[in-house]
Amino acid sequence: MYRLARRFARAEATRNGRFIVAASFRVGIGYDIHRLAEDRRLILGGVTIDYPLGLVGHSDGDVVLHAVTDALLGAAGLPDIGDLFPDTDQAYKDIDSSKLLADAIAKVAEAGFAPNNIDLVVHAEKPKLSEHKQAIAASLAALTGLNISEVSVKAKTNEGLGPLGHADGIACTASVSIIRSNGD
Ligand SMILES: [Zn+2]
Repeated sequence: MYRLARRFARAEATRNGRFIVAASFRVGIGYDIHRLAEDRRLILGGVTIDYPLGLVGHSDGDVVLHAVTDALLGAAGLPDIGDLFPDTDQAYKDIDSSKLLADAIAKVAEAGFAPNNIDLVVHAEKPKLSEHKQAIAASLAALTGLNISEVSVKAKTNEGLGPLGHADGIACTASVSIIRSNGD
């Protein structure tokens, strides 16, 4: 809370004393889903998970990083991940999604904001992710410059319902807040 107050105070100083809460703190949401298939590595939040199947995608298929990237971009009012990194562009084929996230963080910084916290849900029937949640949170914290206490990773099954419930793929819903960083 102290950090939040301090950052708002900084934002106030850069705005000639005007205290603009709405412009200083913003929230975005991101969602992504990829199919599971053989001969792919399973990478979630930058963490490689031992599983016979992996996520299919033009990039490395990391649904967690894609959802977080989209939430960040959305919070800053920037074009989404598909617009910035089109899957028709060979430059992004099999790319490590942490590079896309780093690029998005740079764009968000140009817009005057920095990540503030991440809360996300991974929707996966298989594999069981409970033992990987901490590693994913630590990876996300490292990639975004946040403390691990500012990153929450939850894993949910789909209760056997639909394609996700049949473990045909993995999805992620992410919420990210950003805070004005001008003057840092
Ligand atoms: Zn994706």
